[in-house]
Amino acid sequence: MIFKYTIYSVYFQKEWTHEEKEVEECLKLKSGNVKFHSYYQQFLYHPEDIPYDSFQETPRIFTEFRKSCEIKTEVKNLIESPNPLSDSFISNNTQIPNLKDLGLEEFQEDPRSAFPFQGGEDQAKKRIESYFWETQNLSKYKETRNGLIGEEYSSKLSAWLANGSISPRQIYHEIINYEKEVKSNQSTYWLIFELIWRDFFKYVSLKHGNKIFQLRGILNNDLEWHRDEQKLKEWISGNTSEDFVNANMNEIAATGFMSNRGRQNVNSYWAKELKQDWRIGAAYFESQLIDYDVHSNWGNWMYNSGVGNDPRDRKYNIKSQAERYDPNNEYQDVWLKN
Ligand SMILES: Cc1cc2nc3c(=O)[nH]c(=O)nc-3n(C[C@H](O)[C@H](O)[C@H](O)COP(=O)(O)OP(=O)(O)OC[C@H]3O[C@@H](n4cnc5c(N)ncnc54)[C@H](O)[C@@H]3O)c2cc1C
Repeated sequence: MIFKYTIYSVYFQKEWTHEEKEVEECLKLKSGNVKFHSYYQQFLYHPEDIPYDSFQETPRIFTEFRKSCEIKTEVKNLIESPNPLSDSFISNNTQIPNLKDLGLEEFQEDPRSAFPFQGGEDQAKKRIESYFWETQNLSKYKETRNGLIGEEYSSKLSAWLANGSISPRQIYHEIINYEKEVKSNQSTYWLIFELIWRDFFKYVSLKHGNKIFQLRGILNNDLEWHRDEQKLKEWISGNTSEDFVNANMNEIAATGFMSNRGRQNVNSYWAKELKQDWRIGAAYFESQLIDYDVHSNWGNWMYNSGVGNDPRDRKYNIKSQAERYDPNNEYQDVWLKN
């Protein structure tokens, strides 16, 4: 492509974590004199607008970050998409490889999936159309977001956000439109609140660099950790002594998705109950998640493992979580019985 069209410049999203930078460097090495320009595009609150002079000033506590951004930072407006180049100028015959071409096996989607994901911006917009405007599920998001079964309990926008098919600013402005035209309530605000969490973990990783991948985390906490192969096998294959953990681990293995409630519980069980090296759990998630995002994954794992931003250092009581969020065992029946 580069040689056929004499490309001079490539514009892309700025990354800063180790492996993501390695990919970028590798591409640059193979691209001769092409100029690379990278920009922060993945944020709700753009780095040039946040109320801090440097990333080092990002507070440890989420609430502090959220409140000061909410007061002092405006979410930038959207920019119109440029017109595409005409067909006569550029003809694109690129064949997108299928799984077989990439040396991977075809697979059948699990019918129980809460997240039958299809890639691309059009699909992301379709999901917003359905979740916001058609079903108006957005208006009850705060009450349903801790659900475990089906497509409707939360927005399921994470994978498109993670791979850049849609931006948090697009979602934000769509929520504002919805608030004007349909309803503004705690639920509509709460989806923005969650997008701020997403930003927060990005700023945490900008502040702390590779510490987010280290055993002692950003707190430099020297905790007791073990590495037990057998326990790892049991956790991954859904064979621990906790059925609620097992159901969630079966779900992620079969679909690449798990609810936020499930993620918190299996993380807490692995790191705080079994005291297993939290990074092994995070790495397993990295290998499985369809919405894998380096900052959200490692930031949340640190948070729930006692080495990150949780000021209360919570440990989940798995049994009472299961009773509260799956009182009739419906979720566990879905993922344990088949
Ligand atoms: C251990 C652990 C690992 C996680 N790993 C990832 C990951 O790799 N990628 C990822 O996108 N999210 C991750 N999350 C956050 C959260 O679980 C998912 O974003 C959410 O479950 C995705 O479903 P949804 O889009 O329906 O979320 P919704 O509830 O609809 O939330 C809307 C959006 O807000 C953001 N969001 C919500 N909760 C969080 C959170 N706790 N931290 C950061 N952003 C949040 C996401 O972008 C999400 O798409 C993780 C959470 C935990 C506890």
